[in-house]
Amino acid sequence: MKHGQGTLYYPDGSKFEGTWVKDVREGHGVYAYPNGDMYEGEWLNHMRYPRMLTHAHTLFTLTVKSHDHFSSCCGNKFVKTPIVRRQTVMVDARPQQPLFAFGVIADIQYADIDDGYNFQRTNRRYYRSSIELLRNALDSWSKAAVRPGFILQLGDLIDGHNKLLAASDRAVDAVLKELCSVDAHHVWGNHEFYNFSRDWLLRSKLNSTPQGSQKEVGSNVYAYHFSPYPGFTFIVLDAYDVALLGREESSPGYREALTLLRRFNKNDNLNCPPGVGLLQRFVMFNGGFSKKQLSWLDSVLTSTDERHEKVTIACHLPVHPNSTDPLCLLWNFDEVLAVIRSHSSVVCFMAGHDHDGGYYFDEDTGIHHVTFEGVIETPPDSNAFAIVSVYEDRMELKGSGRVADRVFFFPQSCRS
Ligand SMILES: [Zn+2]
Repeated sequence: MKHGQGTLYYPDGSKFEGTWVKDVREGHGVYAYPNGDMYEGEWLNHMRYPRMLTHAHTLFTLTVKSHDHFSSCCGNKFVKTPIVRRQTVMVDARPQQPLFAFGVIADIQYADIDDGYNFQRTNRRYYRSSIELLRNALDSWSKAAVRPGFILQLGDLIDGHNKLLAASDRAVDAVLKELCSVDAHHVWGNHEFYNFSRDWLLRSKLNSTPQGSQKEVGSNVYAYHFSPYPGFTFIVLDAYDVALLGREESSPGYREALTLLRRFNKNDNLNCPPGVGLLQRFVMFNGGFSKKQLSWLDSVLTSTDERHEKVTIACHLPVHPNSTDPLCLLWNFDEVLAVIRSHSSVVCFMAGHDHDGGYYFDEDTGIHHVTFEGVIETPPDSNAFAIVSVYEDRMELKGSGRVADRVFFFPQSCRS
């Protein structure tokens, strides 16, 4: 692990010399590009910070924490250098107002039943108190300096146990009643399909498709996009487009999904993962995107590229293997990554489903893959939600409880 002061030589000929915190460029450092350009300044979460030194107003002295312990890594390409303890840097100290803000919450999985455990019996599930944690989130969002314009609800709003208790309607009504004061964009997860049919969901309040874009992908796929602020687009994706869940057994979609799943998973119980590594994703509680949805995504991103917009994608299932346990990965994650990578406008991919959460910054594309910690496995004395403040050059995620604070700088390529 790279931790402390050091120099990393990249394969493309560039070099970073400065401070590292757990493999991340953080603190003061100098980046030398292969073409001879150099940037010297502050770094946060791998990215240059602040970006606009020309706007500097205030001079102050930053103390860079020293890390004397320094473990080796990356073969022999990582070279330890003397520790810099103090640096004087120019920063933009003008107060900045975000353009807009939004809230994020994942996997509430409410049910009016006693606590239980996940399938592996490793994590406790707080079914009844999860609605209290939603109330905490709503209370916090309502008191924020810049109130969220909308909420991304990343799926699994109520737990599958409700179906067994014939309590699905009651449970979803209870949670939606809490959410009635906010503009919520609902993503659908596996637990939506344990409780309801796809037809029911399409006709319900869990269908948050804005008027006018109802049939963009097709009547049977739940995916849409919206723009809460000029220059910014959000895309909601349907991770169970190709899946056993939510599809009628007699339908071609069900048979297509079963054929795909059976090719990789030979277990009698298709919720038992096959093999190891990335193969584990081929379980019944996951799903994937159809060619139709992928080509729709491709066309939306072509438009957002042309307009130099910044795009955030919301989906129940994570799509980057480094942002989640492989057990929770979307079936055809590689196909959606290929689409996203062929465009310049995506800045962030937000998902739920893996209750432990995860994060990966894809340096090649500048895309931040965030998997949010699930409310359902969050103790009653903690929390799991976030508010994201959006600026011209970045999004600042302020997490509560189990959700960590993060800053997502926008890649240069999508900046207008
Ligand atoms: Zn889920």
